[in-house]
Amino acid sequence: MDPKDPKNAPSRRLVVNGLGTGLMAAPGLLASSGPALAQQADSPAPTASPPTGGRTLQNPVTEYPKPPFPRQTQEWPGLASKMNPRPDHGETSYKGSGRLAGRRALVTGGDSGIGRAAVIAYAREGADVAINYLPAEESDAREVVDLIRAEGRKAVAIPGDLRDEAFCRRLVADAVAQLGGLDILVNNAARQTAQPSIEAITTEQFDATLKTNLYAMFWITKAAVPHLPSGATIINTASVVAYDPPEALLDYSTTKAGIVAFTKSLAKQLAPKGIRVNAVAPGPFWTPLQPSGGQMPDKLPQFGADSPIGRPGQPVELAPVYVMLASRESSYATGGVFGSTGGNVGP
Ligand code: NAD
Ligand code: MG
Repeated sequence: MDPKDPKNAPSRRLVVNGLGTGLMAAPGLLASSGPALAQQADSPAPTASPPTGGRTLQNPVTEYPKPPFPRQTQEWPGLASKMNPRPDHGETSYKGSGRLAGRRALVTGGDSGIGRAAVIAYAREGADVAINYLPAEESDAREVVDLIRAEGRKAVAIPGDLRDEAFCRRLVADAVAQLGGLDILVNNAARQTAQPSIEAITTEQFDATLKTNLYAMFWITKAAVPHLPSGATIINTASVVAYDPPEALLDYSTTKAGIVAFTKSLAKQLAPKGIRVNAVAPGPFWTPLQPSGGQMPDKLPQFGADSPIGRPGQPVELAPVYVMLASRESSYATGGVFGSTGGNVGP
């Protein structure tokens, strides 16, 4: 039984519900009852919330699936379609309002997870989108292409391995040619492989992590900048691990801290051209990265349990951040890192 699960804490629920009634009956009670009562009133008590009265409020604690999750592993790079439960990328829920009408976006790792959520939102906000992914992820990518086209937007699928500099240059050239230009670049693809110790990290792993997470971002951005007009934006996916690196993610955390520094430096370079550069720092999100090597398999059932919200994020919960950073409304935000961490240590 998870002691953090509010369902498993009936005594506190009773206390807090009783407290609410008591306060209504006797308004002076709080002042006279001292620190013990004040502490109870501060405790998280999702079941004690006042009624929403028909307003569209949601409780983020109970809104999405929470641990424990079924044990599961997948071969890298993993598929969203094989996850249990399937991640929510906004397929049925994200509603656009024309905030990116006519924009042209390239999103790496756009087939699944956080990248897919950004792509669905971009298409529903009126953008044409090119996605990159690995050939092994074609089935996930097809679902995304169909979703983009269902919005009447152009979808460009460009599979290939980002560890190859020549491919990264070709990716940008193809995206620019097929979209007719580029206004939004999202460097989102990543490699994450948990290892218990530095001795367990091979040079091959270290190289793959740095090539995917840092070199590709450098190669793609370098190729893209000459095509970006004033008003364009670059969004890099960093992580909370840049701020609080877990012991099992040594190489990965190193790259995520690098992405933060890269973002801040490039933002200074490109600000005079009117091009903004920001990063997003997610906490734990339910994506194929995690069961395909990103977490130790025995840790996955409790994934996200240690965040104050008590569950992992679903990719759709990040979509508004990627939309906000791509849209003109955030015109003074550059060199920033925007957290969505469930309350974990972040930017
Ligand atoms: P994901 O597995 O859905 O997406 C990662 C994508 O990276 C894959 O879909 C794949 O297409 C791409 N990729 C990996 N290696 C590649 C290569 N060599 N060539 C081309 N593409 C390659 O998982 P996700 O969690 O949505 O990851 C998206 C981003 O979010 C990553 O930058 C990740 O570091 C970051 N992030 C994730 C979490 C989390 O808890 N899931 C937390 C913080 C940050
Ligand atoms: Mg994928």
